[in-house]
Amino acid sequence: MVQALNAVLPAHALLWNREDTTPYECDGLTAYRQRPLVVALPETYSEVQAVLKACHALEVPVVARGAGTGLSGGAMPHKLGVTLSLAKFNKILKLDPASRTAVVQGGVRNLAISEAAAPHGLYYAPDPSSQIACTIGGNVAENSGGVHCLKYGLTVHNVLKVKGFTIEGEEVEFGSDALDAAGYDLLSLIIGSEGMLAVTTEVTVKLVPQPLLARCIMASFDDLRKAGDAVASVIAAGIIPAGLEMMDKPMTAAVEDFVHAGYDLTAAAILLCESDGTPEEVEEEIGRMSEVLTRCGATAIAGEPERSRAPAFLEWPKKCVPGLGPHQPRLHVHGLDHSAQTPGRHFAGDCRGWKRSTGCAAPMCFMPAMATCTR
Ligand SMILES: Cc1cc2nc3c(=O)[nH]c(=O)nc-3n(C[C@H](O)[C@H](O)[C@H](O)COP(=O)(O)OP(=O)(O)OC[C@H]3O[C@@H](n4cnc5c(N)ncnc54)[C@H](O)[C@@H]3O)c2cc1C
Repeated sequence: MVQALNAVLPAHALLWNREDTTPYECDGLTAYRQRPLVVALPETYSEVQAVLKACHALEVPVVARGAGTGLSGGAMPHKLGVTLSLAKFNKILKLDPASRTAVVQGGVRNLAISEAAAPHGLYYAPDPSSQIACTIGGNVAENSGGVHCLKYGLTVHNVLKVKGFTIEGEEVEFGSDALDAAGYDLLSLIIGSEGMLAVTTEVTVKLVPQPLLARCIMASFDDLRKAGDAVASVIAAGIIPAGLEMMDKPMTAAVEDFVHAGYDLTAAAILLCESDGTPEEVEEEIGRMSEVLTRCGATAIAGEPERSRAPAFLEWPKKCVPGLGPHQPRLHVHGLDHSAQTPGRHFAGDCRGWKRSTGCAAPMCFMPAMATCTR
């Protein structure tokens, strides 16, 4: 295998010694580890193609890898296979404020897109909590979402075009620069296909304008079920919060320990609800949300002072997820493995079910992922 890949890649782009391949032995699902036979780090599209063709000819399995932040073991190597790292494809090729699109390589970090778009008053909406590290190629493979996806959609709603190669090394393109493409809608098939249908090398993403204002409120509940039911009531009232996140008491304590955001540590559960838009829209929506939450039994509602984007209440859980290591394996990230299709319904019951079946003490809830998940 190494000989075959040596013919198509420079020596520095191939790793096969134990100490070099060990860093690739798992993704975020660290319970399972397996060193690959070889790690290939191509730098050009033709090298990606050549690696795939060589592996196909030798019938060697290939596992694409972005940043390895996946929590489902998707990037875990095959012991007799090649791990194909897209780490070198980290360039933003084009950013067009007029069409509000960006063309980026598959290994570009999610957050890097918003950072590049910020001077134009734009950002890339899907914001997995791993966005500081995870790549757009991984996001496409996993149809990743985040706190703001309830309002702004998942990866599948924010990508126009994907370019890449099939496992045989055939060049493929899905979608178009426009909102629709002729023929079958294979873009939706590729997004969320766990990297099984193509290796993504280039993605055209939509950018959205940064809202004038974003504000978050924290509602406290004395019962987890009430907080879960409140989510359903907010949605039923016709409100689509820009962000919605729920944490139970143990998780709130764990997060507060780490970030000191000022969460209510006495509550059985807290709901963080964000509204964005013009100042008038935000004021009106926060008012309506507060009414619904009070009706649903919120024991207290605390607001945040006005500020620009990057809401403290909602950003903190995101920032501190990596810091929750000491709480593993008792940390359960809801939404990533749950395909409930109705926002909020049965949610509180689910939490208790998990506690019973998994012994997890601290479910952390990415409500938008749950609310919009259709897979
Ligand atoms: C702290 C933390 C918080 C997280 N929060 C969220 C969250 O809020 N929402 C969410 O949806 N996920 C979340 N995740 C999971 C993970 O970050 C996402 O699934 C992310 O999209 C994975 O991207 P990656 O670049 O790390 O991909 P990897 O982990 O490297 O790979 C994931 C899968 O995609 C495939 N793949 C990767 N790159 C390519 C490519 N270029 N072409 C084809 N296939 C490819 C791999 O083969 C694998 O199957 C979180 C993970 C962590 C560790």
